[in-house]
Amino acid sequence: MLNPRTHSPTLPDSYYAATRRYEPQFPALEGDHHYDVCVVGAGYSGINTAIELQQRGYRVAVVDRFQVGWGASGRNGGQLIRGIGHGLEQFRKEIGEEGIQALAHMGFEAVDIVKQRIADFDIQCDLKLGYCDLANRKRHLRDFEEEKAWLDRVGYPHETELLEQSEMHQVVGSDRYVGGLIDRGSGHLHPLNLIHGEALAAAYLGVHIFEHSPVIRIDEGDTCTVITDRGRIECNTLVLCANAYVQGLNSTLESKVLPAGSYIIATEPLPEDIHTRVLPQDMAVCDQRVALDYYRLSADKRLLFGGRCNYSGRDPKHIAATMRPDMLKVFPYLEDVKIEFEWGGMIGIGANRLPQVGRLKPNVYFAQAYAGHGVNASHMAARLIAESIHGETERIRHLEAVRHMRFPGGHRFRSPLLALGMSYYRLLDLF
Ligand SMILES: Cc1cc2nc3c(=O)[nH]c(=O)nc-3n(C[C@H](O)[C@H](O)[C@H](O)COP(=O)(O)OP(=O)(O)OC[C@H]3O[C@@H](n4cnc5c(N)ncnc54)[C@H](O)[C@@H]3O)c2cc1C
Repeated sequence: MLNPRTHSPTLPDSYYAATRRYEPQFPALEGDHHYDVCVVGAGYSGINTAIELQQRGYRVAVVDRFQVGWGASGRNGGQLIRGIGHGLEQFRKEIGEEGIQALAHMGFEAVDIVKQRIADFDIQCDLKLGYCDLANRKRHLRDFEEEKAWLDRVGYPHETELLEQSEMHQVVGSDRYVGGLIDRGSGHLHPLNLIHGEALAAAYLGVHIFEHSPVIRIDEGDTCTVITDRGRIECNTLVLCANAYVQGLNSTLESKVLPAGSYIIATEPLPEDIHTRVLPQDMAVCDQRVALDYYRLSADKRLLFGGRCNYSGRDPKHIAATMRPDMLKVFPYLEDVKIEFEWGGMIGIGANRLPQVGRLKPNVYFAQAYAGHGVNASHMAARLIAESIHGETERIRHLEAVRHMRFPGGHRFRSPLLALGMSYYRLLDLF
């Protein structure tokens, strides 16, 4: 069950909701309809699949249980980071060199799709380029060196730069890190304004969006029927994009994605002398631990500080009280700064951290499990699904070739089992 503290039917009381620029509103589904494609889930995956399909000439509907952007897409850290999956080498046996190269380049294309969408539809979402990976340990620095050498080899078209410990204050006003890897092609944005802007763009193109329409049953066959509490859609092709919120929709997808709680606090706007000390170049940053800290400045110069991956299925009782000490470990001089917003959401995590994109049946597609990299990867998944529905399966096949493990424990015990496993890895981080 969703925790009502962070998952009431309305948008969470976040900094994003308080500063939203658009107010898209769409009707609930009523009566019987027919579309070429029905998409379930109005986050980045669903809305962008609809955009890509509508642009290819299909009639598309999107249905969401609550509102556009209600899920992770309207609550996330807003970090737009290159790359799909972690450690693509582990899939060499299944997808070969060609597959690894293809996925690597998709990891770059994913960010370009977001930038293009913003430019094409003039979406006001505070896009700012500049991102830095932060090393907690020397071994992370060696990983960064390899990553930079690889990016140079495959022709990553943006500037990257390794930083030594003594140079870290150029990027972050903290003594916690031993080095970094800057990427000037990645960056950050206002995630709720992005998904709202994309939904308005989809509607402008002719996509029919239905909010407050929980899907309660799906009948699959040569055509599929999607049944909500007050209406039904018959469609030739169905696309399931419920990600970490898939519970109750499809048991196969549910068994392969774990909803992990992640939480964010937003400070009051910081005076210039403080925010230029905290993040002097206004970059988004992430550290390298299993339960990582990720943070950035908002357009009005608040610190948005996220972290605390939680697999137990229970949200912390007081998010700010839990997150503030983490923030103060990094920036002790923010002791007197007020926390004005706190919220959380579910990240969909798969066992091998590669996004799960493909088909359950010839006419039933899905996309989920982007881990903490869904802002970019969801846009790539949407394009791949649209290509495939349009008969171009050349690229989706690389992702379809990778097998994804079911998490053991069934619906009730999956999360507690993983919580135990994660505590072990957190312990390793400490040493
Ligand atoms: C706190 C947090 C921080 C994050 N930070 C980052 C970050 O900085 N960078 C990054 O790249 N990624 C980040 N992520 C991950 C990223 O936000 C997600 O991967 C991405 O938004 C997933 O988009 P989606 O469209 O697949 O799913 P969602 O946006 O979660 O959308 C799923 C939708 O499905 C709907 N749905 C579910 N069941 C039904 C049903 N039965 N009927 C109808 N509708 C249904 C839900 O209502 C929901 O709107 C973060 C996630 C969280 C939670």
